[in-house]
Amino acid sequence: MKNLNRLWFFSKGYRYCLVLLVFIVGVGSYLEILIPKLMSDVLDALNTNSSFNTISKFCATIVLFSFILILEGIGEGFFVSTWSAGVAKNLSNALFSKVLDLQSKDADGFGFATVLTRLTTDTANIRRALQMISSFVKCPLLIIFAITASIRINKELSLIFLIAVPLFAILLVIIIKESRKHFRKMLLHYDEMNQMISENIIAMRTVKSYSKESYQSNKFNKIVDNLRFENYSSEKLTALNSPISKMIINIAILILVWVGSRQIIATNLSVGNLFCLISYTNQILMQALVISLILVPLLTSQISFGRVLEILDVDTIDNNQTNFNEEINTITFKNVGFTYADSSDSNLLLNDVSFEVKANERIGITGPSGSGKTTLLKLLMGLYVPTCGDIFINDTNLKNINAISTSKIFGYAPQKNWLFTGTIKENICAGDNKINAEMVKKACEDACIYDYVTSHPKGFDSIIEEEGKNLSGGQKQRMSLARALVRNLPVIVLDNITSGLDRITEEKVLTNLKQKYSNTTQFIVSDKISSIKDADKIIVINRGKLAGFGTHESLLKECSIYKEMDESQKEVVEDVE
Ligand code: ADP
Ligand code: MG
Repeated sequence: MKNLNRLWFFSKGYRYCLVLLVFIVGVGSYLEILIPKLMSDVLDALNTNSSFNTISKFCATIVLFSFILILEGIGEGFFVSTWSAGVAKNLSNALFSKVLDLQSKDADGFGFATVLTRLTTDTANIRRALQMISSFVKCPLLIIFAITASIRINKELSLIFLIAVPLFAILLVIIIKESRKHFRKMLLHYDEMNQMISENIIAMRTVKSYSKESYQSNKFNKIVDNLRFENYSSEKLTALNSPISKMIINIAILILVWVGSRQIIATNLSVGNLFCLISYTNQILMQALVISLILVPLLTSQISFGRVLEILDVDTIDNNQTNFNEEINTITFKNVGFTYADSSDSNLLLNDVSFEVKANERIGITGPSGSGKTTLLKLLMGLYVPTCGDIFINDTNLKNINAISTSKIFGYAPQKNWLFTGTIKENICAGDNKINAEMVKKACEDACIYDYVTSHPKGFDSIIEEEGKNLSGGQKQRMSLARALVRNLPVIVLDNITSGLDRITEEKVLTNLKQKYSNTTQFIVSDKISSIKDADKIIVINRGKLAGFGTHESLLKECSIYKEMDESQKEVVEDVE
């Protein structure tokens, strides 16, 4: 029932189709039941040598009803397709917007593959099931109308339905129970399949360079084979449905003809009425068969609907969160601890991290790979909430600041830079229409990517292909830096964005950041000490703990891991030179 309410909600804009559909299907079903009765009247009129006028009246009514039924069929097709496509559109839109709104932790929890399956396979399942809506309305109506009409004709013979209909019901229950079980597993295999496909397409070059094609193919084969097995198991039962149902129908008709013909001989029943009863039996049992065929996809699509609702029902609005419009004076981490896993404090990835940064300071962040630098930045921007401890901007706890406000504070260039298919301008503006051409040009100049952009005939309108595959690693990094700089936000957060740059370009970028963005607070993560050594302060993270916080000189004296890193990197530079 709750699901039906939700379905009504997602029918927004197309509800009239559903209402009209139910109305015309109701009328159509009623006419369909009247036609056999009219035919039996024709038969009996012929038998009793009634006047031509009477017979032709019956025939004209049958023709008229048939014509109305044709119109009903056309209307039904139109309303069903408009409504089902409309609901699928609303559902996909709602799901996609929700996915964009998900907090990072929730998005991680679901994972990419299952979100993809829910957006594609599950939504398609739901649309297919919705297309069966008219049968779902029509079949029960036809059965009720036909049973009522049969009882009116002959109570005794109508008892046949008391046996046949429960038989169908039992058959249905068995099929539904089994199919649902397999269908749930099938969708999980679809998730695995999508995971595998996306991973292999993203990492195609790695797979090729390690000649891992056959290994990956075998893995994929296994998943597809599991899918085949579940598919086969659920279809096997459904395949039995049709022959068993037809057998029930034929036996019922046989009994009807056997008992009915005796009643005709005893003149308790007319030939026309027996014909009518046979038609109704056929109608009732055929509708029961149709129900059994549509109920499986209908009920299994309920599983898909449940999976879609699971994402839609994630709470993304925190009523405790408010706007933050103050000028930033300090950013403070107080005993911050964090784990990606669900709330177990025992294995914190970041542990007891405390520091304070003042406005317009340039902060370098370094530490061994995997120590938690990127995680620290994500916490800083409110993408994840600390498992313990707090982060304050001035005196306001970051977890009370809403996402719209944080997006106006932090300009972020992630380590794994992500560019969209579209023009360079679109990528840099990222949908913010307040950014003008002058701002884009300045950001590109400061990110040292302007010369590259203007070397293209189309300049800022040049197309960046899917995932930026027509750009080098360093070009992508600078494009992503330009995007972080363009909005002139108060805090700039850069995660290893100079790792793919040559030394001269890197120096230019860093000098620009220092000189032209001195009125911003900067957090610059780098593995290279040389990139951050002149920062106002440097945070050293080692195995999730704050190993040092101070200037380059003070850290060289006090922080052994920093000193080690500095020395080992100097050796590398000397070796190269
Ligand atoms: P760094 O940037 O210092 O190299 P990260 O902050 O990226 O380190 O990662 C720190 C640790 O957190 C790593 O061990 C990594 O396995 C883990 N990690 C990073 N992102 C996730 C995530 N989304 N889910 C679970 N674990 C993660
Ligand atoms: Mg990192």
